[in-house]
Amino acid sequence: MATAPRRNIDLASARAEAEHRFIAANPKSRVLFDQAAEALPGGNTRTVLYYAPFPLTLARGEGARVWDVDGHAYADFLCEYTAGLYGHSHPVIMAALREALDGGIVLGGHNKAEGRFAAALCARFPSLDLVRFCNSGTEANLMAISTARAVTGRDKIMVFDGAYHGGVFYYAHGGMPLNAPFPTVIAPYDDTQAALDLIAANARDLAAIVVEPMQGAAGCIPASRDFLAALREASAKHGIILIFDEVMTSRLAPGGLQEALGITPDMTTLGKYLGGGLTFGAFGGRAEIMKRFDPRDADAFPHAGTFNNNVLTMAAGLAGITKVYTPEAAVALNARGDRLRERIAAVFDAHGTGVRVTGLGSMLGLHFASEDARALFHLDLLDRGQYFARRGMIILSLPMTDADLDGLVAAVEGFRADHAALLAAG
Ligand code: PMP
Repeated sequence: MATAPRRNIDLASARAEAEHRFIAANPKSRVLFDQAAEALPGGNTRTVLYYAPFPLTLARGEGARVWDVDGHAYADFLCEYTAGLYGHSHPVIMAALREALDGGIVLGGHNKAEGRFAAALCARFPSLDLVRFCNSGTEANLMAISTARAVTGRDKIMVFDGAYHGGVFYYAHGGMPLNAPFPTVIAPYDDTQAALDLIAANARDLAAIVVEPMQGAAGCIPASRDFLAALREASAKHGIILIFDEVMTSRLAPGGLQEALGITPDMTTLGKYLGGGLTFGAFGGRAEIMKRFDPRDADAFPHAGTFNNNVLTMAAGLAGITKVYTPEAAVALNARGDRLRERIAAVFDAHGTGVRVTGLGSMLGLHFASEDARALFHLDLLDRGQYFARRGMIILSLPMTDADLDGLVAAVEGFRADHAALLAAG
């Protein structure tokens, strides 16, 4: 897609113009979207993928690139909302998948990879003595919370404003209509005193405190170490199970943020890239809690799930964590992310554009002063061949080259050059 200088009088007009250009450039995506809307509400089966005027339909991916159905190539900084850590065709992952496929699918028994995969995860993440697999991060959180309620005999959970723990655990704006109906206390994020006060007021009813060490969907907002340490101390004091949701943040250090911060929760939930790019979730924690699932015990908690140990996820996940995303690879990728964040922040900081850049390591959040500014940035960067989430989340993957990162910075500079005056005015 060609780019031309934009001269608009305000952000809303610039956004409208960008939407027109997008519509003109993507006729095939539009047709497929309209057709899908006949059987899917709003053409959509995954809310986060929708953006106006209509989302691109992707035809294929390779390495760190994706192509849409109209033939445009993009550098993929959406990275499947962090699950795309290995890119779209990592040779080690693809080989593991081919080997697993050759062994046949839906075996309906224990398989050779699952025990080794579990052992690899327990070796990596300090809080995991034992772990169990499921099929999504949502399910992992549902299982961890239900486990905490069963173990403590208490009802309530504490979560934090803005948190996303899954399709039925979304706590922006006071919670969502489809949230799981657990009695829930919502505390402000990263506000130690407020959290401690709410814990004290609800101490005898709280089964679990669930927290992302850095909020992901809310915009890559890291918590302070003091806040998390205070949660650790207060939960231990009151017999509340502290659950770190590291579905996204486990990629930020070899042993997740829990290792980087030196704070060990009672339980941890995992998902995303750890399945090697396939459907995945896991929950685990202290042996004393997790051994309640041991089916050799007469009163064990039952936990079923047809696809919990599906051979494709087990093979891809095992290969990924043992052969590709080694501790060294995790350190290197996150160092690259830190440098990229500094470069992008410098583009905006130097020009008073009101854009704020947050995040840690390989996860970046860009914050705009208005919805128009955010949409304009997204459409403008798509036009420059950069694919990422409308919410302003930019994620690194392993196959990205330095040229890919330079390309993103150049695109951000181009956006700033074209729109700085409007951003400052807006
Ligand atoms: N927890 C966090 C922190 C997440 O970011 C997500 C997904 N974005 C989930 C849980 C839910 O994972 P899934 O989409 O696999 O259900």
